[in-house]
Amino acid sequence: MNASTQGEEEGSPEDRPEKNPEKDPEKSAVSWRALLRETTTAIGESAPARWLCEAASGLTGDELLSELDQPVTLRMVAHLDSMVARYRSGEPLAYVLGYWSFRHIDVMVDRRVLIPRPETEVVAGRAIELAALVSDPVRRIADLGTGSGVIGLSIASEMSISGTEVWLTDAVSDALDVARANAAGLGRRAANVRIAEGEWFAALPEDLAGSFDVVVSNPPYIADDDSEIDPSVCEWEPGSALFAGSDGLRDLRIIVGEAQTWLRPGGWLIVEIGYGQGSAVEQLFVDSGFVDVRVGQDLTGRDRYVEGRRPASC
Ligand code: GLN
Repeated sequence: MNASTQGEEEGSPEDRPEKNPEKDPEKSAVSWRALLRETTTAIGESAPARWLCEAASGLTGDELLSELDQPVTLRMVAHLDSMVARYRSGEPLAYVLGYWSFRHIDVMVDRRVLIPRPETEVVAGRAIELAALVSDPVRRIADLGTGSGVIGLSIASEMSISGTEVWLTDAVSDALDVARANAAGLGRRAANVRIAEGEWFAALPEDLAGSFDVVVSNPPYIADDDSEIDPSVCEWEPGSALFAGSDGLRDLRIIVGEAQTWLRPGGWLIVEIGYGQGSAVEQLFVDSGFVDVRVGQDLTGRDRYVEGRRPASC
Protein backbone atom coordinates (compact mmCIF):
# COMPACT_ATOMS: atom_id res chain seq x y z
CA MET A 1 0.00 0.00 0.00
CA ASN A 2 1.02 3.55 -0.36
CA ALA A 3 -0.96 5.27 2.36
CA SER A 4 -0.63 8.60 0.65
CA THR A 5 -1.92 7.45 -2.71
CA GLN A 6 -4.34 4.63 -2.04
CA GLY A 7 -7.21 7.10 -1.97
CA GLU A 8 -6.74 7.64 -5.70
CA GLU A 9 -8.48 4.34 -6.28
CA GLU A 10 -11.26 4.43 -3.76
CA GLY A 11 -11.14 7.39 -1.36
CA SER A 12 -13.00 10.62 -1.86
CA PRO A 13 -10.76 13.61 -2.59
CA GLU A 14 -11.24 14.98 0.91
CA ASP A 15 -9.85 11.74 2.32
CA ARG A 16 -6.60 12.30 0.54
CA PRO A 17 -3.60 13.38 2.57
CA GLU A 18 -2.78 16.28 0.33
CA LYS A 19 -1.37 19.48 1.56
CA ASN A 20 -3.96 21.94 2.67
CA PRO A 21 -1.97 25.21 2.72
CA GLU A 22 -4.91 27.27 3.94
CA LYS A 23 -4.62 25.43 7.20
CA ASP A 24 -1.36 24.02 8.51
CA PRO A 25 1.02 23.39 5.58
CA GLU A 26 2.45 20.42 7.42
CA LYS A 27 -0.92 18.75 7.90
CA SER A 28 -2.58 16.38 5.45
CA ALA A 29 -6.36 16.21 5.15
CA VAL A 30 -6.52 12.61 6.24
CA SER A 31 -7.23 11.40 9.76
CA TRP A 32 -5.61 8.59 11.73
CA ARG A 33 -8.96 6.77 11.58
CA ALA A 34 -8.78 6.68 7.77
CA LEU A 35 -5.10 5.76 7.72
CA LEU A 36 -5.61 2.99 10.24
CA ARG A 37 -8.40 1.57 8.09
CA GLU A 38 -6.26 1.79 4.94
CA THR A 39 -3.28 0.20 6.64
CA THR A 40 -5.38 -2.66 8.00
CA THR A 41 -6.76 -3.34 4.53
CA ALA A 42 -3.33 -3.11 2.95
CA ILE A 43 -1.62 -5.60 5.25
CA GLY A 44 -4.67 -7.67 6.18
CA GLU A 45 -3.92 -7.70 9.92
CA SER A 46 -5.35 -5.32 12.46
CA ALA A 47 -2.89 -5.48 15.40
CA PRO A 48 0.25 -4.84 13.29
CA ALA A 49 -1.62 -2.05 11.47
CA ARG A 50 -2.34 -0.38 14.80
CA TRP A 51 1.28 -0.77 15.94
CA LEU A 52 2.56 0.70 12.67
CA CYS A 53 0.23 3.69 13.09
CA GLU A 54 1.38 4.09 16.69
CA ALA A 55 5.01 4.04 15.55
CA ALA A 56 4.36 6.51 12.72
CA SER A 57 2.45 8.86 14.99
CA GLY A 58 4.76 8.58 17.98
CA LEU A 59 1.63 8.04 20.08
CA THR A 60 0.89 5.21 22.48
CA GLY A 61 -2.19 3.04 21.88
CA ASP A 62 -4.50 5.10 24.10
CA GLU A 63 -3.17 8.39 22.77
CA LEU A 64 -3.75 7.25 19.20
CA LEU A 65 -7.34 6.29 20.05
CA SER A 66 -7.97 9.77 21.37
CA GLU A 67 -6.41 11.38 18.27
CA LEU A 68 -8.21 9.23 15.69
CA ASP A 69 -10.03 12.18 14.13
CA GLN A 70 -7.03 14.50 14.09
CA PRO A 71 -5.34 15.27 10.76
CA VAL A 72 -2.06 13.48 10.22
CA THR A 73 1.09 15.36 9.32
CA LEU A 74 2.60 14.72 5.89
CA ARG A 75 5.78 13.56 7.55
CA MET A 76 3.85 10.91 9.47
CA VAL A 77 2.08 9.74 6.31
CA ALA A 78 5.45 9.34 4.60
CA HIS A 79 6.84 7.48 7.60
CA LEU A 80 3.84 5.14 7.70
CA ASP A 81 4.09 4.53 3.93
CA SER A 82 7.70 3.49 4.20
CA MET A 83 7.03 1.19 7.18
CA VAL A 84 4.08 -0.46 5.44
CA ALA A 85 6.21 -1.04 2.32
CA ARG A 86 8.97 -2.63 4.42
CA TYR A 87 6.50 -4.88 6.25
CA ARG A 88 4.86 -5.94 3.02
CA SER A 89 8.26 -6.81 1.56
CA GLY A 90 8.69 -9.39 4.34
CA GLU A 91 10.80 -7.46 6.86
CA PRO A 92 9.91 -8.63 10.40
CA LEU A 93 7.52 -6.29 12.18
CA ALA A 94 9.94 -5.72 15.09
CA TYR A 95 12.60 -4.33 12.75
CA VAL A 96 10.07 -2.20 10.88
CA LEU A 97 8.79 -0.71 14.13
CA GLY A 98 12.31 -0.41 15.53
CA TYR A 99 11.21 -1.61 18.95
CA TRP A 100 9.70 -4.65 20.60
CA SER A 101 8.32 -5.64 23.99
CA PHE A 102 9.93 -8.18 26.28
CA ARG A 103 8.42 -8.97 29.68
CA HIS A 104 7.97 -5.50 31.25
CA ILE A 105 10.29 -3.47 29.04
CA ASP A 106 10.25 -2.06 25.53
CA VAL A 107 13.58 -2.18 23.72
CA MET A 108 14.92 -0.84 20.46
CA VAL A 109 15.80 -3.53 17.95
CA ASP A 110 17.27 -3.53 14.48
CA ARG A 111 19.17 -5.94 12.28
CA ARG A 112 22.23 -5.83 14.54
CA VAL A 113 20.39 -8.02 17.07
CA LEU A 114 17.99 -10.95 17.29
CA ILE A 115 14.34 -10.11 17.77
CA PRO A 116 13.38 -10.94 21.38
CA ARG A 117 11.22 -14.06 21.54
CA PRO A 118 8.51 -15.14 23.97
CA GLU A 119 10.41 -18.33 24.87
CA THR A 120 13.32 -16.19 26.04
CA GLU A 121 10.94 -14.35 28.38
CA VAL A 122 10.54 -17.66 30.20
CA VAL A 123 14.33 -18.09 30.44
CA ALA A 124 14.72 -14.55 31.79
CA GLY A 125 11.92 -15.21 34.29
CA ARG A 126 13.69 -18.32 35.55
CA ALA A 127 16.99 -16.39 35.86
CA ILE A 128 15.14 -13.79 37.95
CA GLU A 129 13.73 -16.55 40.21
CA LEU A 130 17.19 -18.03 40.68
CA ALA A 131 18.73 -14.61 41.37
CA ALA A 132 15.98 -13.91 43.91
CA LEU A 133 17.19 -16.93 45.91
CA VAL A 134 20.46 -15.11 46.62
CA SER A 135 20.41 -13.48 50.02
CA ASP A 136 23.81 -11.73 49.85
CA PRO A 137 23.70 -7.94 49.88
CA VAL A 138 24.74 -7.73 46.24
CA ARG A 139 23.73 -10.24 43.61
CA ARG A 140 26.11 -10.40 40.67
CA ILE A 141 24.60 -11.63 37.43
CA ALA A 142 25.93 -11.95 33.88
CA ASP A 143 23.92 -12.14 30.66
CA LEU A 144 26.41 -13.49 28.11
CA GLY A 145 25.79 -12.76 24.42
CA THR A 146 23.17 -10.24 25.42
CA GLY A 147 22.23 -8.94 21.94
CA SER A 148 19.57 -6.29 22.48
CA GLY A 149 20.09 -6.74 26.23
CA VAL A 150 16.61 -8.01 27.00
CA ILE A 151 17.51 -10.76 29.47
CA GLY A 152 19.96 -8.75 31.56
CA LEU A 153 17.92 -5.56 31.38
CA SER A 154 14.79 -7.42 32.49
CA ILE A 155 16.74 -8.73 35.47
CA ALA A 156 18.00 -5.22 36.24
CA SER A 157 14.55 -3.70 35.92
CA GLU A 158 12.67 -6.38 37.88
CA MET A 159 15.07 -6.72 40.81
CA SER A 160 16.07 -4.22 43.48
CA ILE A 161 18.41 -1.60 42.04
CA SER A 162 20.85 -1.36 44.91
CA GLY A 163 21.22 -5.10 45.44
CA THR A 164 21.78 -6.21 41.87
CA GLU A 165 24.75 -5.87 39.52
CA VAL A 166 24.16 -7.10 36.00
CA TRP A 167 26.86 -7.60 33.39
CA LEU A 168 25.83 -7.57 29.73
CA THR A 169 28.39 -8.99 27.33
CA ASP A 170 28.60 -9.57 23.61
CA ALA A 171 31.40 -10.32 21.18
CA VAL A 172 29.73 -8.17 18.53
CA SER A 173 30.29 -4.49 19.19
CA ASP A 174 27.35 -3.49 16.98
CA ALA A 175 25.07 -5.58 19.20
CA LEU A 176 26.51 -3.98 22.32
CA ASP A 177 25.65 -0.56 20.91
CA VAL A 178 22.02 -1.67 20.86
CA ALA A 179 22.27 -3.09 24.40
CA ARG A 180 23.87 0.18 25.55
CA ALA A 181 21.05 2.22 24.05
CA ASN A 182 18.51 -0.03 25.73
CA ALA A 183 20.30 0.23 29.07
CA ALA A 184 20.19 4.00 28.72
CA GLY A 185 16.47 3.75 28.03
CA LEU A 186 15.95 2.17 31.46
CA GLY A 187 17.40 5.20 33.19
CA ARG A 188 17.90 4.70 36.92
CA ARG A 189 16.94 1.03 36.75
CA ALA A 190 20.14 0.44 34.76
CA ALA A 191 22.34 2.16 37.33
CA ASN A 192 24.07 -1.12 38.16
CA VAL A 193 24.30 -2.49 34.64
CA ARG A 194 27.82 -3.01 33.30
CA ILE A 195 28.63 -3.63 29.66
CA ALA A 196 31.66 -5.58 28.44
CA GLU A 197 32.76 -6.68 24.99
CA GLY A 198 34.17 -10.13 24.30
CA GLU A 199 33.52 -13.81 23.65
CA TRP A 200 31.46 -15.38 26.44
CA PHE A 201 33.33 -15.29 29.78
CA ALA A 202 36.43 -13.67 28.24
CA ALA A 203 34.48 -10.39 28.25
CA LEU A 204 34.41 -10.28 32.05
CA PRO A 205 37.12 -8.78 34.28
CA GLU A 206 39.33 -11.59 35.58
CA ASP A 207 39.02 -10.45 39.18
CA LEU A 208 35.32 -11.35 39.08
CA ALA A 209 36.05 -15.05 38.49
CA GLY A 210 34.25 -17.13 41.09
CA SER A 211 31.87 -14.33 42.09
CA PHE A 212 28.77 -14.64 39.89
CA ASP A 213 25.52 -15.73 41.52
CA VAL A 214 23.75 -16.33 38.24
CA VAL A 215 25.04 -16.58 34.68
CA VAL A 216 22.37 -16.63 31.99
CA SER A 217 22.71 -16.84 28.23
CA ASN A 218 20.68 -17.23 25.09
CA PRO A 219 23.57 -18.22 22.83
CA PRO A 220 23.35 -19.29 19.21
CA TYR A 221 22.18 -22.92 19.24
CA ILE A 222 20.87 -23.71 15.77
CA ALA A 223 22.76 -26.29 13.72
CA ASP A 224 24.34 -24.76 10.62
CA ASP A 225 22.32 -26.98 8.28
CA ASP A 226 19.02 -26.89 10.22
CA SER A 227 16.25 -27.12 7.65
CA GLU A 228 13.43 -26.19 10.06
CA ILE A 229 14.53 -22.61 10.54
CA ASP A 230 12.08 -20.06 9.22
CA PRO A 231 13.47 -18.52 5.99
CA SER A 232 12.58 -15.04 7.24
CA VAL A 233 14.76 -15.60 10.33
CA CYS A 234 17.71 -16.56 8.09
CA GLU A 235 17.14 -13.67 5.77
CA TRP A 236 16.76 -10.91 8.32
CA GLU A 237 18.30 -11.82 11.67
CA PRO A 238 22.04 -11.92 12.44
CA GLY A 239 23.46 -15.37 11.68
CA SER A 240 26.12 -14.92 14.37
CA ALA A 241 23.33 -14.95 16.99
CA LEU A 242 21.69 -18.07 15.56
CA PHE A 243 24.08 -20.69 14.22
CA ALA A 244 26.51 -22.73 16.28
CA GLY A 245 28.25 -25.42 14.28
CA SER A 246 27.13 -28.75 12.92
CA ASP A 247 25.15 -29.74 16.04
CA GLY A 248 24.28 -26.25 17.30
CA LEU A 249 26.21 -26.89 20.52
CA ARG A 250 29.50 -25.11 19.76
CA ASP A 251 28.86 -22.12 22.03
CA LEU A 252 26.88 -24.03 24.66
CA ARG A 253 29.92 -26.31 25.13
CA ILE A 254 32.15 -23.30 25.80
CA ILE A 255 29.70 -21.62 28.18
CA VAL A 256 28.87 -24.74 30.18
CA GLY A 257 32.54 -25.81 30.20
CA GLU A 258 33.84 -22.50 31.56
CA ALA A 259 31.01 -21.44 33.84
CA GLN A 260 32.20 -23.14 37.03
CA THR A 261 35.27 -20.87 37.06
CA TRP A 262 33.08 -17.78 37.08
CA LEU A 263 30.25 -18.84 39.37
CA ARG A 264 30.55 -18.61 43.11
CA PRO A 265 30.06 -21.93 44.88
CA GLY A 266 26.33 -22.60 44.75
CA GLY A 267 25.84 -20.14 41.85
CA TRP A 268 23.53 -20.97 38.97
CA LEU A 269 24.02 -21.27 35.21
CA ILE A 270 20.94 -21.13 32.98
CA VAL A 271 21.08 -21.35 29.20
CA GLU A 272 18.46 -21.25 26.49
CA ILE A 273 18.51 -24.27 24.16
CA GLY A 274 16.77 -25.59 21.07
CA TYR A 275 13.83 -27.86 21.84
CA GLY A 276 15.72 -30.98 20.71
CA GLN A 277 18.84 -30.30 22.78
CA GLY A 278 17.58 -30.98 26.32
CA SER A 279 19.36 -34.24 27.02
CA ALA A 280 22.59 -33.30 25.21
CA VAL A 281 22.93 -30.04 27.16
CA GLU A 282 21.87 -31.67 30.42
CA GLN A 283 24.76 -34.09 29.87
CA LEU A 284 27.16 -31.19 29.23
CA PHE A 285 26.14 -29.72 32.60
CA VAL A 286 26.63 -33.03 34.41
CA ASP A 287 29.99 -33.64 32.70
CA SER A 288 31.15 -30.19 33.83
CA GLY A 289 30.34 -30.93 37.47
CA PHE A 290 27.01 -29.10 37.85
CA VAL A 291 24.44 -30.31 40.36
CA ASP A 292 20.67 -29.83 40.52
CA VAL A 293 20.64 -29.95 36.71
CA ARG A 294 17.19 -29.57 35.23
CA VAL A 295 15.69 -29.08 31.78
CA GLY A 296 12.88 -26.50 31.75
CA GLN A 297 10.11 -25.91 29.22
CA ASP A 298 8.74 -22.86 27.44
CA LEU A 299 5.07 -21.91 27.32
CA THR A 300 4.44 -24.32 24.46
CA GLY A 301 5.72 -27.18 26.65
CA ARG A 302 8.92 -27.71 24.67
CA ASP A 303 12.36 -28.04 26.27
CA ARG A 304 13.81 -24.52 26.25
CA TYR A 305 16.45 -24.13 28.91
CA VAL A 306 18.83 -26.03 31.13
CA GLU A 307 19.85 -24.87 34.59
CA GLY A 308 22.37 -26.21 37.06
CA ARG A 309 24.34 -25.14 40.12
CA ARG A 310 28.03 -25.12 40.91
CA PRO A 311 28.33 -27.36 43.98
CA ALA A 312 28.43 -25.32 47.19
CA SER A 313 31.76 -25.56 49.00
CA CYS A 314 31.71 -27.60 52.17
N1 GLN B 1 14.85 -19.20 19.23
C1 GLN B 1 15.50 -18.67 18.07
C2 GLN B 1 14.88 -19.24 16.82
O1 GLN B 1 14.49 -20.37 16.80
C3 GLN B 1 16.97 -18.96 18.07
C4 GLN B 1 17.67 -18.22 19.13
C5 GLN B 1 19.05 -18.68 19.31
O2 GLN B 1 19.69 -19.35 18.50
N2 GLN B 1 19.55 -18.31 20.42
O3 GLN B 1 14.77 -18.56 15.84
